[in-house]
Amino acid sequence: MRTLVLSDIHANLVALEAVLADAGQWDRLWFLGDLVGYGPNPNECVERLRDVGASPALSGNHDWAVLRKLDTEEFNDDARRAVRWTRQQMKDDNLAYLNGLPPLHVEAPYTLAHASPRHPVWEYILDLPTAQENFDYFDTPTCLVGHSHIPALFILDEAGLNFYLLDDGEVVDLTQGRMIANPGSVGQPRDGDPRASYAVLDDEAQTWTLHRVAYDIAETQSRMRAHQLPSRLIERLEFGM
Ligand code: ZN
Repeated sequence: MRTLVLSDIHANLVALEAVLADAGQWDRLWFLGDLVGYGPNPNECVERLRDVGASPALSGNHDWAVLRKLDTEEFNDDARRAVRWTRQQMKDDNLAYLNGLPPLHVEAPYTLAHASPRHPVWEYILDLPTAQENFDYFDTPTCLVGHSHIPALFILDEAGLNFYLLDDGEVVDLTQGRMIANPGSVGQPRDGDPRASYAVLDDEAQTWTLHRVAYDIAETQSRMRAHQLPSRLIERLEFGM
């Protein structure tokens, strides 16, 4: 079974379409949250993900903020402005879809969480101590997370815990230990590579493969400008930061 694993689309429809075109055939699509927030096409992204049958799909902190399930006081000004703009755009049925998504789901032998298994909506797993603690908060061999927008991989085996940043085309053998794996962000990468990021999980081969795909960043930027979204959010797409 070939599972496409996407996270942090952030209303960037151009990037989502590039990923779906690049991914080819797949059997299942899992989404790890943050479908909206930042980008110019929140309704279109919800509708596209629902139409391709993403299941499970999770919700993230930006989705929760748009739904008013989460206070935006911990968001920076630009993110807060994007949340407010997104609330004004969202159609009721798309809000209802978002509202039905959980932030954590166990699909044995995988645990899926937006941010972390310990704090599914809010915690960034970016360092070894945080990752180490989180291994106590899920029972499956592998946990898939998004939220940091970085294609990070933590492997825990008898020798200890290791951190890797995956590149395009890198294939990881899932049998070498317990893992916390992040597919990176479709719509707003933050590892210095502006290409959309996603992963493919092959549960027969027991592999996790990271993919990067270029998309028309200028098109997304011009849609953002047309809606007067914050310029810092528009510019950062070019740098993948
Ligand atoms: Zn996000």
